[in-house]
Amino acid sequence: MTTTTGERLVDFDDLLTRYEPVIGLETHVELGTASKMFCGCSTTFGAEPNTQTCPVCLGLPGSLPVANAAAIESTIRIGLALGCRIATWCRFARKNYFYPDIPKGFQTSQYDEPLCTAGHLDVEVDGETYRVEIERVHLEEDTGKNLHVGGATGRIHGADHSLIDYNRAGIPLVEIVTRPIPGTGAKAPEVARAYVTELREILLALGVSEVRMEQGNLRSDVNTSLAPIGSLEWGLRTETKNVNSLRSVERSVRFEMRRQAAVLDAGGRVLQETRHFHEDTGTTSAGRSKEEATDYRYFPEPDLVPIAPDPEWVDKLTAELPELPAARRVRLQEEWDISATEMAWLVNAGAVDLVAGTVAAGASPADARKWWLGELARRANDAGVELAELSITPRQVAELAGLVAAGTINDQLARQALDGVLAGEGDPAAVVEARGLAVLGESDELVAAVEAAIAGAPDVVEKVRGGKVQALGALVGAVMKTTRGKADAATVKRMLEERVLG
Ligand SMILES: [Zn+2]
Repeated sequence: MTTTTGERLVDFDDLLTRYEPVIGLETHVELGTASKMFCGCSTTFGAEPNTQTCPVCLGLPGSLPVANAAAIESTIRIGLALGCRIATWCRFARKNYFYPDIPKGFQTSQYDEPLCTAGHLDVEVDGETYRVEIERVHLEEDTGKNLHVGGATGRIHGADHSLIDYNRAGIPLVEIVTRPIPGTGAKAPEVARAYVTELREILLALGVSEVRMEQGNLRSDVNTSLAPIGSLEWGLRTETKNVNSLRSVERSVRFEMRRQAAVLDAGGRVLQETRHFHEDTGTTSAGRSKEEATDYRYFPEPDLVPIAPDPEWVDKLTAELPELPAARRVRLQEEWDISATEMAWLVNAGAVDLVAGTVAAGASPADARKWWLGELARRANDAGVELAELSITPRQVAELAGLVAAGTINDQLARQALDGVLAGEGDPAAVVEARGLAVLGESDELVAAVEAAIAGAPDVVEKVRGGKVQALGALVGAVMKTTRGKADAATVKRMLEERVLG
């Protein structure tokens, strides 16, 4: 098979018979601090270009940086959540390279003295746990943003001019680097995705970043290499840059494995290079050849004092870490009395927080799961949106479940009430009221319907009286039909029994 750009691809299952993948991820997270890393400029997203700049983040001569303490604290908390060692002393370093979005001519980063080292993150794929070793977590600053105008794809190639927005330049950026991850085999694409997913959950739990991938708050460089099965050496790796959705992380690994296998099958060498991922086609294309660390002429930043976190402060931050997602899932699984598989369904559906919120609002865990994984999942799927994007809150779902539990409405009416809530008609109780959805009690209307059903089916009545009690179901059905689903089936059954069996 070949791609539209003429690259040959090997079938995924076929390549696994000959090659083993090794993956690795470098993930950049924009911290949610109010001000930038080395100056007081605002970090608000979406402002007019170049309105959030000052001499420091524009790199003007004579300006001096001051490190943002909140950013250092957030980085240490990320390191602690990943089980890292926190440096007692470390420095920033200048990473020298010339690029228009780097106004200083260097990026202030960390090199051989990162703030956090040697952690790990366990991720689960299909019931199997994979340990991802974290090599380092360090602090640096984001670059500005280039806007290439006139080209077909927004890239510099073919553009007639380029614009630069420095609002993003200097926003605190944490880089989380894994060690190479071997041994994932066929699961490599899913492990890569599961890692970024779990990392994102941790960052959310810590509250250090909004981690909106579509706004570029979290973006991953995904390394992929292949080696012949049993080989003692790993293959040369490519680095797919700035992959900014969970799905794309998985797709980019899968594509690179298939492309590299074709290169190796043909006796070629995989080039160590950066590659771009294309969302529309799910393919990657060559970028620049990969720099070595020596190309950057790193040296310690002379304008900033070293960071030496007080061990007592680090102990305090450790003690104050929130419950992390993995521990929370274990706790909720126990509280909700569900299996690991059922919990995995909730995780995959993005429903854990929604169910937790619904339970907190008073629903039983079983009811909360039933609504979110059943009727609401179906509606989200039909509308092509995530569960959390439906216009219904956990509190409203709890209210709906409460109305069913109280016998005010049955499941069928509840689905109609749901229509109303999703259409913006208000809370479930209000919709039930406004749409007249409440089940009929033993009203004259219901008594009339029950008596009509009995009168209309003397043969069924005969069968029931003759001992075939299950034949009563036909009468229940008839009553439900005449009341158009508004009766409570249990009430109807009891009323029929009283009249038919005496
Ligand atoms: Zn500034």
